[in-house]
Amino acid sequence: KNTNGTYTVTLIEGDGIGPEISQAVKDIYSAAKVPIEWEPVDVTPLLIDGKTTLPQPAVDSVNKNLVALKGPLATPVGKGHTSMNLTLRRTFNLFANVRPCKSIVGYDTPYENVDTVLIRENTEGEYSGIEHTIVPGVVQSIKLITKPASEKVIRYGFEYAKSIGKPHVLVVHKASIMKLSDGLFVSTAKEVAKEYPDVTLDFELLDNTSLKLTADPSEYKDVVMVMPNLYGDIMSDLSSGLIGGLGLTPSGNMGNKVSIFEAVHGSAPDIAGKGLANPTALLLSSCMMLRHMSLNADADKIEAAVLKTIASGPENRTGDLKGTASTSHFTEQVIANLE
Ligand code: NAD
Repeated sequence: KNTNGTYTVTLIEGDGIGPEISQAVKDIYSAAKVPIEWEPVDVTPLLIDGKTTLPQPAVDSVNKNLVALKGPLATPVGKGHTSMNLTLRRTFNLFANVRPCKSIVGYDTPYENVDTVLIRENTEGEYSGIEHTIVPGVVQSIKLITKPASEKVIRYGFEYAKSIGKPHVLVVHKASIMKLSDGLFVSTAKEVAKEYPDVTLDFELLDNTSLKLTADPSEYKDVVMVMPNLYGDIMSDLSSGLIGGLGLTPSGNMGNKVSIFEAVHGSAPDIAGKGLANPTALLLSSCMMLRHMSLNADADKIEAAVLKTIASGPENRTGDLKGTASTSHFTEQVIANLE
């Protein structure tokens, strides 16, 4: 906290639609007089000794402020450097990715009452980046699962379940096939559960969860799902689809010290620079950030204005929600709906 009562937060605007949706957040925050001062940083990757590295000023800013809001970062395919998202997660050891997904009242989808939360292991699994060619035409990709990383994300899941008043953890896995790797995730969960006698622990196979979540998402409203990295990636996009798409779902990357909040979606190169992007996911991510900082009243105010705007009709919604509004028109309406 600064001496003038404000808080400084690192802002990574990101690529593609990142600057447009970040501008919406900045405009709405200043209109709502939220006590946040943004510290923008550049995270254009540096290749040092063949390793993708974050610029030091960005690292220093995040370590100083402890909280960052981040737009999407594009990952060039086949250019030889690691995804900047992965680099950020590794640099700050952001071991748990919390992804809530809630139906938006006033925006109809085939499902009502979706209210799920999924915690994704964020540092290893299929994302450990260990791949090699054995002989031409044969490649191997290593899925790395360790007990310490599993324990960290699972313990976070139990704590989170308690904190939101849903004392029920559901571990989603495929230990029927990946007996050792997912098996370790499962056995670690059983061990951690001994420390939480008041929290129920259940297990479900990933394919079964996919079927049941799309058949009736309301079955998952009272549990906190915890799962390995790739499963969490896929299941959270699937959950986004249930409520109206990627333009709506927020997330928080949580570490011991630092946390970085970001939309689930990517840089949306197909609509970048056209003023069409929906800033809702980044705005709701920023509300998760405000609650993490105990600025609950500010979070409630922004969230209410965003939801009211979406519910107010297609003329005030962006194209991904079958609306006709530009990013800036949507932003103006959110500002007008601030109470
Ligand atoms: P994407 O999420 O960028 O886009 C998928 C589709 O959803 C596109 O049609 C896009 O227009 C739409 N969409 C996404 N966000 C939207 C928004 N806010 N408003 C309106 N429409 C929206 O996924 P992609 O095209 O597979 O990936 C593009 C780039 O983003 C890639 O380089 C990828 O690596 C990167 N990416 C980054 C992150 C991150 O920074 N956390 C996450 C996913 C993908």
